[in-house]
Amino acid sequence: MESQKQFKRRFSFEFFPPKTDKGEEKLQKTRDRLAELNPDFFSVTFGAGGSTRDRTLETVTRLHSQGISTAPHLSCVGATRESIAELLDLYRENGVERIVALRGDMPSGMGGAGELRYANELVEFIREHSGDYFNLEVAAYPEFHPQAPTAEADLQNFVRKVKAGANSAITQYFFNADSYFYFIDRLEKMGVTIPVVPGIMPIVNYSKLVQFSDMCGAEIPRWIRKQLDAYGDDTESIKQFGEDVVTRLCEQLLDAGAPGLHFYTLNQANASTHIWRNLGLDQSKRIAF
Ligand code: FAD
Repeated sequence: MESQKQFKRRFSFEFFPPKTDKGEEKLQKTRDRLAELNPDFFSVTFGAGGSTRDRTLETVTRLHSQGISTAPHLSCVGATRESIAELLDLYRENGVERIVALRGDMPSGMGGAGELRYANELVEFIREHSGDYFNLEVAAYPEFHPQAPTAEADLQNFVRKVKAGANSAITQYFFNADSYFYFIDRLEKMGVTIPVVPGIMPIVNYSKLVQFSDMCGAEIPRWIRKQLDAYGDDTESIKQFGEDVVTRLCEQLLDAGAPGLHFYTLNQANASTHIWRNLGLDQSKRIAF
């Protein structure tokens, strides 16, 4: 973990672009509450295949103009170079300086792969088109990407993204800190030293967590599943247990030298705010935990 300790810690919150006016109002309230915590940036997801292209753009520009730097996610699956270049230019015109560059997953039945097949090709294309203007984040998988043929191949892919010009990475969420520590050790041995910020999924809703985790290949450890199972419909106990488990995970990560945290908020402020407060993440604690 030594390589990660040299980086300035950064804390961020991720949103998805709302579909309805009500959803927008809710996001605005969430944004206002989380803005009080003074995060380094917000990010807004992108529906692969361009399904949320305009909504992501609108949400990013609005949030960015409200004073906290906001980064769009951008996925290349199903996209053309031209459509990506157009978006990059629009973001640049709006003062956006950070992009989370991804391959994405095409919903089944939504057509072909697009002109760029993998995230490393997207990073390369963004560098060709916009030079060093953007700060580029890529995805990292401490428990490995579900489609990777081997763990080694996935690590090699991560290295390709870094070589293509990624500045830093955000991980898929995980509940087992050792998977992150091992991932960082492997990267260090391969000579890769960029900040790799743990992605944190607060536990709020058990069935949704199971659904997400099945899709993205994140493991919910047996002891957590068993405990959540035992709570049944008792949502308060689920939230309390989830908050404890995730706070402890964050403590372990920060104590070991993780260069910040990125919260998958699902547009809700409560869980992330509680964890943040449990961690005592005021300005001084942010620098040295
Ligand atoms: P890649 O890095 O391209 O990897 C995809 C797979 O291909 C891996 O298995 C890799 O090992 C393999 N691979 C890569 N290169 C090669 C090669 N040359 N030959 C063979 N195999 C190769 N999804 C969205 O749709 N919208 C979002 O906004 C979004 N945000 C995310 C944010 C974060 C922080 C994370 C961690 C994930 C996010 N995702 C999002 C999910 C992501 O799009 C999926 O996990 C997707 O399946 C992979 O994207 P990637 O950028 O990691 O792809």
